[in-house]
Amino acid sequence: MAKSYLHFWGVRGSHASPFDSHLQVGGNTSCVEINVNGHILICDAGTGIITLGNKLAAQQNIKEVTVILTHYHWDHICGLPFFEPAFIPGWKINFYGPGESIQEMKQNLDSQMQAPYFPINTENWMANINYIPPSTKKIRVGDMVVKHHCVHHPGITYGYTVDTGKQKIIYVSDNECQFLDKSIKMKMTEFSEEEQTFLKEINRGEYEYELKSIKDADILIHDSQYTPEDYEIKRGWGHSCYVDVVNSSIDAGVKQLYLFHHDPSNDDSAIEEIHEKSINIIQSRNSSLKCFIAREGLEVELN
Ligand SMILES: [Zn+2]
Ligand SMILES: [Zn+2]
Repeated sequence: MAKSYLHFWGVRGSHASPFDSHLQVGGNTSCVEINVNGHILICDAGTGIITLGNKLAAQQNIKEVTVILTHYHWDHICGLPFFEPAFIPGWKINFYGPGESIQEMKQNLDSQMQAPYFPINTENWMANINYIPPSTKKIRVGDMVVKHHCVHHPGITYGYTVDTGKQKIIYVSDNECQFLDKSIKMKMTEFSEEEQTFLKEINRGEYEYELKSIKDADILIHDSQYTPEDYEIKRGWGHSCYVDVVNSSIDAGVKQLYLFHHDPSNDDSAIEEIHEKSINIIQSRNSSLKCFIAREGLEVELN
């Protein structure tokens, strides 16, 4: 039986950052491969998918992959025009992502490959391209069962739960957790007592929803783009402060957390510092949560 693993091909948020100071963590944008017994699920198609595509094109055993997209921001789709298997006859590529219809999904992918922005379009793809209807609630890829939930990020954005039959992996690349909590607390004095009670209720609902969506994950890959200082300036931009992610993960009973979607302005040492401070939070709360930096090239063995 083929080995099962999770491989980080791109871990960066917003834009690729192939700078010397960033390469210990990695410069490519979001792309994670989950390979269970030779069945391949690809989470997002940032620049990380290019190296994955080259590896896939060079082998002969596997000729089908399923690509699930959290949303259509550039950092999550801009590797797709350079994804080698799409240009090879005999390959089958299944796409799934947010949208009202297959046409809308297709349009979202087509439009980044149109003149004057790109020399060829998706008509030049020679693989068998299959769009899974967005109304599908549950996708099966080999033994994996994949479900989505909505997260807090501009536009409609999904997080995904991948049940391998043995482990629950949750992928939330872009999400501003505890958005309402922060916003409401900041302005609380501006509301009447009655309004404050109502807002606290909504706030509690938001946190319960967040905890439910990541509950008991064996592996959680989560947006941890900002420090508390960044977050003061970038509140509402759709990304999380790592402090909130670590606390939510502890509250939700997550076993392993991978800090993901690193800010391009953070070099290797800045991300190491985020990691150290995350571990301090975990220790101060006496939690057994294990916390890692998602690094490009890191492969995690699955059960
Ligand atoms: Zn992103
Ligand atoms: Zn985004």
